[in-house]
Amino acid sequence: MSDKTLPRHPAEPSTHQDLLSRIATLEARVRELEAERDQLQDQTEARIREQTAALRESEERFRRALEIETVGVIFFNAHGDITWANDAFLRTGGYTQEDVAGQRLRWDRLTPPEWMPASRRAIAQLKTTGSTTPYEKEYYRKDGSRWWGLFAAKGLSENDGVEFILDITEHKRAEAERERLLRDAESARAEAETANRAKVDFLGAMSHELRTPLNAVGGYVDLLDLGVHGPVTEAQRAALSRITANQRHLLMLINDILAYAKLDAGQVPFDLRRLAAGDVLGSVEPLIAPQATAKGIAYSAQPCDPALGLIGDQERVRQILLNLVTNGIKFTSAGGWVLLSCDADTAWLYIRVRDNGPGIALEKQRAIFDPFIQVDRRADQPQEGVGLGLAISRDLARGMGGDLSVESAPGAGSAFTLCLPRAEDEPRASG
Ligand code: ADP
Repeated sequence: MSDKTLPRHPAEPSTHQDLLSRIATLEARVRELEAERDQLQDQTEARIREQTAALRESEERFRRALEIETVGVIFFNAHGDITWANDAFLRTGGYTQEDVAGQRLRWDRLTPPEWMPASRRAIAQLKTTGSTTPYEKEYYRKDGSRWWGLFAAKGLSENDGVEFILDITEHKRAEAERERLLRDAESARAEAETANRAKVDFLGAMSHELRTPLNAVGGYVDLLDLGVHGPVTEAQRAALSRITANQRHLLMLINDILAYAKLDAGQVPFDLRRLAAGDVLGSVEPLIAPQATAKGIAYSAQPCDPALGLIGDQERVRQILLNLVTNGIKFTSAGGWVLLSCDADTAWLYIRVRDNGPGIALEKQRAIFDPFIQVDRRADQPQEGVGLGLAISRDLARGMGGDLSVESAPGAGSAFTLCLPRAEDEPRASG
């Protein structure tokens, strides 16, 4: 090629040398661009590789999440076919992946007839809001038996959705069992109440039948004692007094048993009103003094604040205190003392009966409030009573909204505390 044959461009290098150098520059530029292109290509490939790996990682995490063993997960299409199910779902229903692949699992085939309305409501909700509120229903297993699930679905597109299902069969079984037990307990309670009423009626009738001849025994003994049927020798008089003592004892037992049965059946009415604590404590002394003196026990009641009051039934409170003080006198040896006192806090009034008798071992303290329990009862040392006094007293205290408790130790005496709701203080006399 000769530059003489070609017309020259004004910008064209004038010499062959220039031309060569220009070509070299252009070639260098082409190489640069090629290198740049290669680099870009490498970078693009690397980025694609990174993104593919990230996608795979995210898919893998998603897949692992769906493998959760405790929650069934199914994907379904718009026709109601289950298109994918995790092992948890298949295991619960006894199905296999082949059943899914063979399109043998459809929600309407799995749903027992009575649960169809609930399922339809859920589908309607899914269509309008895109998801369902969790709902419970039964599903068929492959063997035709049923299981309970808690279902919650979400639409993924127009044509498919996902549903999470918690197997609550065991929970439902326990719930049914609890309800059955509750019903059993309820009917047992009703039966016990009927039996209790029958017991009280029987005891009422029986105690009446027993009291009548017992009173007659007392009457005839009195007549004999008065010498109506002829003179009475000293030995006979002693025998008559033992008969009287036993007759009274029997009467007391019968009355106690009837009272306890009535309390136990909730048949004791309480006449609750404000009582002045001082009056309540003072009312015990006249009834107890002869007994205390006869046994050589010093009985005293500490004066209590005249403003203090309690809410209770006067007769029942007195009955409890009489029982506690009588016990104090009964179990304390001659020369001992029994002390009645009271104090209060904002809500409660406490009446204490203390003695310096034998005390009660800690392990026996709970039992003495049970009916017919007598600590250290010995056949050769018959004590009065049948072990009902404290059971009756505690029931009476609780019936009035209070309680009865004991603090004691062997050799250190006993302190019984009757606690009852405190009444408003009596306004103090001004002046
Ligand atoms: P009872 O007096 O008929 O035996 P209670 O229910 O009143 O029945 O008392 C139950 C038992 O509690 C008594 O048998 C006695 O063992 C014990 N107990 C009650 N009060 C005292 C007391 N102040 N000191 C020692 N033991 C007592």
